[in-house]
Amino acid sequence: MGEPARSKGVDDVPTPGIGEWGRVLERLKEEVGDTAYRSWLQSLRVERIDAGEAVITAPTRFLRNWVATHYADRLLTLWRGENPAIARLSVIVEAHLPVRPREEARVEKPGPSDTASAITAEPASLIEIAEDKGHLLAALDPRFTFENFIVGKPNELAHAAARRVAEGCASPVHAVPFNPLFLYGGVGLGKTHLMHAIAWHVRMHAPARKVIYLSAEKFMYQFIRALRFRSTMDFKDQFRSVDLLMIDDVQFISGKESTQEEFFHTFNALVDQGRQIVISADKSPSDLAGLEERMRSRLGWGLVADIHPTTYELRLGILQSKAEQSDLHLPQKVMEFLAHKIVSNVRELEGALNRIIAQMQLIGRAITLESAQELLRDLLRANERRVTIDEIQKQVAEHFNVKMAEMTSSRRARIVARPRQVAMYLAKQLTSRSLPEIGRKFGGRDHTTVMHAVKRIEELIAGDRALAEDVELLRRMLQS
Ligand code: ADP
Ligand code: MG
Repeated sequence: MGEPARSKGVDDVPTPGIGEWGRVLERLKEEVGDTAYRSWLQSLRVERIDAGEAVITAPTRFLRNWVATHYADRLLTLWRGENPAIARLSVIVEAHLPVRPREEARVEKPGPSDTASAITAEPASLIEIAEDKGHLLAALDPRFTFENFIVGKPNELAHAAARRVAEGCASPVHAVPFNPLFLYGGVGLGKTHLMHAIAWHVRMHAPARKVIYLSAEKFMYQFIRALRFRSTMDFKDQFRSVDLLMIDDVQFISGKESTQEEFFHTFNALVDQGRQIVISADKSPSDLAGLEERMRSRLGWGLVADIHPTTYELRLGILQSKAEQSDLHLPQKVMEFLAHKIVSNVRELEGALNRIIAQMQLIGRAITLESAQELLRDLLRANERRVTIDEIQKQVAEHFNVKMAEMTSSRRARIVARPRQVAMYLAKQLTSRSLPEIGRKFGGRDHTTVMHAVKRIEELIAGDRALAEDVELLRRMLQS
């Protein structure tokens, strides 16, 4: 997106259409809410309206890009509602923001249209956040502690690393074991939980230490504010007395050039000063899209710990612990069922459990496997991985080392017939296809052949440990 050429007089001639603009902003504010309005829209100004084109300015490049991609269409639509003559809308970067003395920005009189004071009236520069313990506490979820974190194979490295950081930061010598700690993994697997746990630990054991925990979005917001009112130098200064800086979900920073740049500088300065940094993202540094190369490599300097998708054992452990915490007697069967079925992430697992708890409290008696199934029908359906018959055939053929073509061939030698039967059995178990449909997929076989195969495999599994294991393994592979 190129910046249109522009000519700006220093003293603004009153722009026609300002009243319209005010109403447009009002409308949009109602739609997006106060927070988004303050973050993204409040600082926009009308530059000019000219031959059907409305030009508005944003204070920074980043803000300009954000507004252009997220709000420009809506702004134009609303504006046209006010003034049909407007055909186009451009967002440009404000020419040169005169460096405002800090005081000036702060003392401006509050007034209904005084945006500057509205922004400075926001609580908390970063340093205020660090100093105001209440602020950090308010941002931390009291449930997200190490005590409440269940450790299993998928998260043991991330957990151990988080603990080391917490202990290092809380120790009198403030030993930084690795810097940064980069935690990554899919949604709902415990990244935020671990970061909060670190903060809680440091709070408990070394209350004098300054800890900042920010979502990447908050970080960007603070940064934009700093650009608007102070120099970026000040922004960095704000971190100076911070002992531990944690930024959650940095994938939201990637691709946003100026914020990234600032993040990079801040990051380097802090590491150089021996401050601990913890970062989380949904991907590894090398897979984060839109990240500058030097940023990528720098992020990978410390310890990179990934959280893997949950296993059955971990899910069961989490359920047991949560049920215990809530003093509930959940039948083991129900917990096993949930752990088996809700495989997406821990957040959904908790959601399922909470629903069951609510139901138990409501009806005042224990839940059965059947009622759990009924209650969670929608969730269960969403968690069903859609396995196709093709996938099953391929996986089974590979597993038993037969050609894929044997799945549909008419050869009856046991060496190929047995794998074919296993595939039919799994097709019946893992898909919602009918017997005739399955038969068709296996070289046009009759539905009775499929039925026979299913029965046969069921019988065999009961007595043949090796085959039972094969089938179980295949099932897991296909469903994971
Ligand atoms: P992420 O930040 O990775 O998206 P969260 O940290 O928000 O995930 O975790 C989602 C939910 O799952 C939270 O309620 C959290 O407490 C819970 N959770 C995740 N992993 C565990 C775990 N190992 N033990 C206990 N609870 C967990
Ligand atoms: Mg999170």
